[in-house]
Amino acid sequence: MTDIATSDDTATQLATARIAFRNELLDAGILIASSVAGVYGRSGTFESIITGLDALLARMAAPLNAQVLRFPPVYPRVDFERTDYIASFPDLSGVVSSFERGDKEHAALLSARADGEAWDGWLDPTDVVLTPAICHPLYATLEGRLPEEGGVFDLAGYGFRHEPSEDPMRMQSFRMREFVFVGTPDAAQVYRDSWLDRAIETLASLGLAVDAVPANDPFFGRAGRMLVNAQLRENLKVEIIVPLYGDLHEGTAIASANCQRDHLTAAFGILTHDGDVAHGACVAFGMERTALALLRTHGLNPAEWPEGVRDLLGLCST
Ligand code: ATP
Ligand code: ZN
Repeated sequence: MTDIATSDDTATQLATARIAFRNELLDAGILIASSVAGVYGRSGTFESIITGLDALLARMAAPLNAQVLRFPPVYPRVDFERTDYIASFPDLSGVVSSFERGDKEHAALLSARADGEAWDGWLDPTDVVLTPAICHPLYATLEGRLPEEGGVFDLAGYGFRHEPSEDPMRMQSFRMREFVFVGTPDAAQVYRDSWLDRAIETLASLGLAVDAVPANDPFFGRAGRMLVNAQLRENLKVEIIVPLYGDLHEGTAIASANCQRDHLTAAFGILTHDGDVAHGACVAFGMERTALALLRTHGLNPAEWPEGVRDLLGLCST
């Protein structure tokens, strides 16, 4: 989370610039608005950029021989409860509710609905939550000892974060592509650092004015502020940012490279070959954010983008 506005005035101008960009995207039919902030449809043009990015990232990651895995956008609540996500980010979380009661309650729900009253009080949380970060379902499957060389995984899918916003770069439901390593602490650190360089190089090759900065996530509450300090002090998370609004803002994160240490591996009982708690590291690309950064940088018509960028994204035949 890199969102430091310098003054009230700058903050207002930045908010206005973000809304103007969102309106340009809606007017061009690239994003399709819904009645809820941060929930959009995507056009064919937008999806062709995402497809190109996915293929580019696959080419970039090919030497890793990562195991490709895909999980749906919901995962078990029991696994969610093994992480501390609900403690750190209660405001971003999403739990799926459904109706699990009897005829009497159904009748009450129907009558409330007919009267235009709230009907969701008759729903209960189910055993699935919306996936907040697409590596969480993976960690939940890795309990036990890893092979000697650890594991490398290629993940993609939708994540949910309850952060309604007028900023088109901050959606509630968006795709991530993640390359995750689990193994020894040293190997995890090496993986994160080498990936950071590779990710910066790849994104820069698309003509994006990327920069890498230490991140501080929006942990909730007082205990959360201590977590922010630890994250900054230990340089656990680096964000790759792109400036989109000139001097108004230093940039928006389109990807991040993280050392998770034993944060999720301890929670899920994931051990190295030698039986110590494994460490995790991941690099996560925000697919919508990267596509939007490209549209902001090169213009709203990909047919007019620089030839080299179109080539890299396989857009030349379209
Ligand atoms: P931010 O600091 O902007 O809230 P984050 O640090 O929470 O993002 P990560 O958990 O690092 O994000 O997620 C990986 C990537 O997913 C980010 O670098 C970003 O590109 C993308 N991303 C995160 N939140 C959103 C969102 N609300 N809408 C669109 N993309 C997002
Ligand atoms: Zn991750």
